[in-house]
Amino acid sequence: MQKYQTLKQYFGYEAFREGQEELIDHILSGKDTLGIMPTGAGKSICYQVPALLFSGITLIVSPLISLMNDQVRALKEAGVAAAYLNSSLTVNQFYKALDLAKRGAYKIIYVAPERLLTDAFLSFATQVDISMVTVDEAHCISQWGQDFRPSYLKIVEFIEQLPERPVVSAFTATATKAVKEDIVAMLQMKQPLVLVTGFDRKNLYYEVRHPKNKLDSLFSYLEEHEGESGIIYCATRKKVEEVCTALLANGYAATKYHAGLTESERSRNQEDFLYDVTPVMVATNAFGMGIDKSNVRFVVHYNMPKNLESYYQEAGRAGRDGEDAECILLYHGQDVVINQMLINQSMKQSELDYATVLKVKEQDEKRLKKMAYYCLTKDCLREYVLQYFGERSEHYCGNCGNCIKEYEEVDVSETVRILLSCIKESGSRYGMTTIIDVVRGAESKRVERGGLKYNSFYGALKKETAGQLRAILNMLILDNYLVSTEGSYPVLQMARLGELFLQDLDGYITMKLAKEEYEPKANYVQPEKPSKRSSKGTKQAAVKDRKRSSASAKRKTSGTVLDEREQAMFEQLRKLRLQLARKQGVPPYIIFSDKTLKDMCVKQPTTSAELLKVSGVGEVKLEKYGEEFLQEIRSSHHLG
Ligand code: ADP
Ligand code: ZN
Repeated sequence: MQKYQTLKQYFGYEAFREGQEELIDHILSGKDTLGIMPTGAGKSICYQVPALLFSGITLIVSPLISLMNDQVRALKEAGVAAAYLNSSLTVNQFYKALDLAKRGAYKIIYVAPERLLTDAFLSFATQVDISMVTVDEAHCISQWGQDFRPSYLKIVEFIEQLPERPVVSAFTATATKAVKEDIVAMLQMKQPLVLVTGFDRKNLYYEVRHPKNKLDSLFSYLEEHEGESGIIYCATRKKVEEVCTALLANGYAATKYHAGLTESERSRNQEDFLYDVTPVMVATNAFGMGIDKSNVRFVVHYNMPKNLESYYQEAGRAGRDGEDAECILLYHGQDVVINQMLINQSMKQSELDYATVLKVKEQDEKRLKKMAYYCLTKDCLREYVLQYFGERSEHYCGNCGNCIKEYEEVDVSETVRILLSCIKESGSRYGMTTIIDVVRGAESKRVERGGLKYNSFYGALKKETAGQLRAILNMLILDNYLVSTEGSYPVLQMARLGELFLQDLDGYITMKLAKEEYEPKANYVQPEKPSKRSSKGTKQAAVKDRKRSSASAKRKTSGTVLDEREQAMFEQLRKLRLQLARKQGVPPYIIFSDKTLKDMCVKQPTTSAELLKVSGVGEVKLEKYGEEFLQEIRSSHHLG
């Protein structure tokens, strides 16, 4: 039962989350362990609880200074003796910390991988009792991962030099098979337990928007989310500058982060964000690893990222406290083009041999395509992502943009027949834009040059907008009627299903189109008979639609729901937290998370014993802050 005591005493939690207990038990039994959990699932507890129960010291190898400093700050607040050893320390500070460590001052030490094999550190590590070496962000050891760090390769060499082999545990949010196998092999883990927990984050709402003007769309989003903390990810430094400037000009407290800023600017801006001085952060993907600010309420992607791994990781920085949060992606076709360019560029700059470069490029393009499909699918976004990560899930989650949107089944058979015939007649040699030009009867150069004016279907769909045709063609690709070739100039080719459809004169296709995107034309009628697509698909669609109509008014939420009075109390407690944070010089969320404050509003404790029952209140924090929070609760209780 010791682990439960530790969990409550230091972290203030009553119960473990999915996977945590199993991982902790395994580590405590002295065996190597690899935990794969999504961002925000609670990996830290999995090694921090055993670290507190082991007799010796636990070393945690971590790739980023900000990550270490943040974790150590949080541990100290919780009453744990912890320290970090990285390049943010002066030489003097480093030796002082090492000296204290030697004398047993710390239970948990975070260390940068570059330090491990230095003489000073090795001499320390071989003199003391090391119970466990934990590798955080363990995917950094894999060349297949996106964040390969050569310094991670030193970890095994370090472990081998210890007089006794400690328990080795590793954690990451990257779940691909290649990376998983790499971690186990490269760290030479001994018959490890490899536990992959569910990747679903129920409190996150996913939505893709297709705005004509992204900046307008962003502003109207921010207006609805005033005062909340969030991250806006952009593809390039230039975009970050542009968006951040626009936000500042409109009075938003925003800051920015990208690799073009100086080190000191970056750390200042990051602190401003962490401390809620500027609750909105505009950044490139350089920002975020190791940021565990728990009250991030939204992550907006101003540009589509290059793959779903990146997207899920970045979006996952929202709602770490388990309260409701939103992940919004603003999509434009141009995003795909930019990403393809980046792939081509990195291929040219790569130092790998040609065959490997080609393989990597092929992989990257495949991933990019899957990412683009995420932005185009009309089905449940959560299901799409979970399937991508190899998990099964319901077809309807009730908490994503597609599940709550009103769709309409529209018969598009005639349009599809014309599009497919046009592609077939022109020899499957043209891309989407050209085909759309042809059927709309455009006078473009492309059409002239290819002699496509003489295609039998030239101008056959004059009345349709390019956007509608694009939506239909994209769905034909998704549903395997057409194949879009890979590479910089993708070409549409007929697939078997497309051929079959053209041969079957009675065949017809219905498609789900969002009401607001699509005004049914006279030639589009609501189907009376079920669609010709697989009957299984149709049934699911029907069930989905029924559920949807009843749920469309209200989104499923999984966070704490406060009534008006409780909400007012929450605001008061938030103010108190901010005051205390300023006084202590720590970020507000390190004192208590939003979730903990909300739990206080619901439970309204009046005594210390009652306050200790609130999730997230441990003994040290009770002693430090308990009285002040109890007073605030009492006073706002009287007011209400
Ligand atoms: P990860 O490293 O997996 O991204 P963290 O370790 O930062 O996630 O944990 C995310 C949040 O969840 C933190 O605020 C943490 O305190 C909280 N948390 C972790 N375990 C539990 C638990 N058993 N009960 C309640 N909250 C938890
Ligand atoms: Zn859904």
